[in-house]
Amino acid sequence: MKNTQAEKDTRERMRPGHITAQGFLGRDDRGIADIVEADLEEFRRVGLEPGAVADFLERLRDLGQKGLGEPIGVDGRYVVTAGDARGVLPCPWNDGVYHKNSVSVRDEKSGGELVYSDLSIHLLREHGFCQGKGSAFRLDPETIAGIMG
Ligand SMILES: [Zn+2]
Repeated sequence: MKNTQAEKDTRERMRPGHITAQGFLGRDDRGIADIVEADLEEFRRVGLEPGAVADFLERLRDLGQKGLGEPIGVDGRYVVTAGDARGVLPCPWNDGVYHKNSVSVRDEKSGGELVYSDLSIHLLREHGFCQGKGSAFRLDPETIAGIMG
């Protein structure tokens, strides 16, 4: 991926106050392509495929939704809280809109925690994008490896 105008536009849409109040980049000032490349490398290092991670996150979301907004135990180790979707958010790459939901997962085994939405899952699956370092919704590969391990 090159640092094209399209990438610059995508990065602009990821800033705070565009699609979401917090934005997607946290305190990360790297380019999108650099963030994606580094996280894909990190996924390779921990032996995970982004598509398999996206499947895992969808499964926890689906099971968590049975709690109707209350924390629910899954697989004897995860505590999942999945709130209702309130509207939709566009992908910063402008290829669709996704539920504005919030799923939080705490793994009692590794101590790892994740917070994500349907848009986060799409960003990971379709764009290999885990969000910037310091973003509340970042899908950190090493944290995920602990949670899935
Ligand atoms: Zn997209």
